[in-house]
Amino acid sequence: MTKSESLFQEAVQYIPGGVNSPVRAYGSVGMTPRFIAKADGPYVTDVDGNRYIDYIGSWGPMILGHNHPAVLEAVIKTAENGLSFGAATELEVQMAEYICQHIPSVEMVRMVNSGTEAVMSAIRAARGYTGRNKIIKFAGCYHGHSDAMLVKAGSGVMTAGIPDSAGVPAGCTQDTLTAVYNDIDSVKAIFDEFDGEIAAVIIEAVAANMGVVLPKEGFLKELRELCTQKGAVLIFDEVITGFRLAFGGAQEYFGIDADMVTYGKIIGAGMPVGAYGGKKEIMEMVSPVGPVYQAGTLSGNPVAMAAGLTQLKILKENPNIYVHMADLGEKLFGGMKQLLKEYGRTYPVNHTASLGCVYFTEKDVYNYEMAKTSDTDAFADYFRFMLEHGIHLAPSQFEAIFLNHAHTDATVLETLDVMKQYLESRA
Ligand SMILES: *Cc1c(COP(=O)(O)O)cnc(C)c1O
Repeated sequence: MTKSESLFQEAVQYIPGGVNSPVRAYGSVGMTPRFIAKADGPYVTDVDGNRYIDYIGSWGPMILGHNHPAVLEAVIKTAENGLSFGAATELEVQMAEYICQHIPSVEMVRMVNSGTEAVMSAIRAARGYTGRNKIIKFAGCYHGHSDAMLVKAGSGVMTAGIPDSAGVPAGCTQDTLTAVYNDIDSVKAIFDEFDGEIAAVIIEAVAANMGVVLPKEGFLKELRELCTQKGAVLIFDEVITGFRLAFGGAQEYFGIDADMVTYGKIIGAGMPVGAYGGKKEIMEMVSPVGPVYQAGTLSGNPVAMAAGLTQLKILKENPNIYVHMADLGEKLFGGMKQLLKEYGRTYPVNHTASLGCVYFTEKDVYNYEMAKTSDTDAFADYFRFMLEHGIHLAPSQFEAIFLNHAHTDATVLETLDVMKQYLESRA
């Protein structure tokens, strides 16, 4: 038995399913998880000493690669002054100022500890601001695990085959209305039915929790116009796309400003951080200035702020990082497309910038229904082969491949070579 296997046997006795987040479980690919001991640059190493080229990157935060020396140094130096004070600090002001200076739509921001918290709080603020209750989300988009958002919520929920979650009272989701991604008419129909009742529309501007689904030309712009016309708050959930598609996230990438934005993942550089921000008049609804209550013992934690701010500054000051990742993306995802074609598989490879996904289906994937046409058993077979040959992919068809700046032409070529071996062995 490997050390990972024996750790897993122990883990399941004390942790539900042996994991602290269901996306880490290997159930849907018929395996048990590899336990990671350490990571460096584009690699992770498991407790048995196997090294993998890593395409999870902690689900996005490690955009500079693992163990970046500047981030590590910031964490260590800041920790020497104390881990948490539960009082105001200079670092959180610097972080907030930096975000507001560099993200045009964000005039004020509040730090929290996870993406889930960021979305939950943004929705509360949007409801408080508009005095309305109903929220529109899109099928297949994931916005964290707060009660109101666990409706048609993508990856983790999809993989487990749970349509919804137990333990969420119907009352908590009765105001969550679900539209179809890339279908503006489905949004208009909801606005028509609930005229004057929609507080906010929340969307992943590139949906990266049902694989990777790109917005069709004009879709986001029409959504923007619709929200403005109806007085609904447009929230871009940029927990994955923020600081990834471009420094200014999806807003910069697509040239569209949201009214509110939520961040997570990259903003903490691997520490538990989230944030929500937007127009001043909305953000001033939040306590202690406004009537919308939201708080957090560890929010704006100095060590987390030091890590995140260091990473953000590196990203902002080195725009070549985005050029490099886009180039790697073209090589990796373009190479995958080419290989699949060579072996007669007409699978779509959806990708943009440093995010991509191969769907094991013959259909074009532009929404949740189409994503669900994928053959998850075929994906599992591919996943196992890749893992056994040193490629660490997310253990689900419905997750993105995350490239980061530490990847190189060499790691990309090695990955394509393994994929070729896989296709050859199954030809
Ligand atoms: C990961 C994710 C979240 C939730 O963030 P956590 O930090 O896991 O709570 C919310 N929205 C999107 C788009 C995400 O990808």
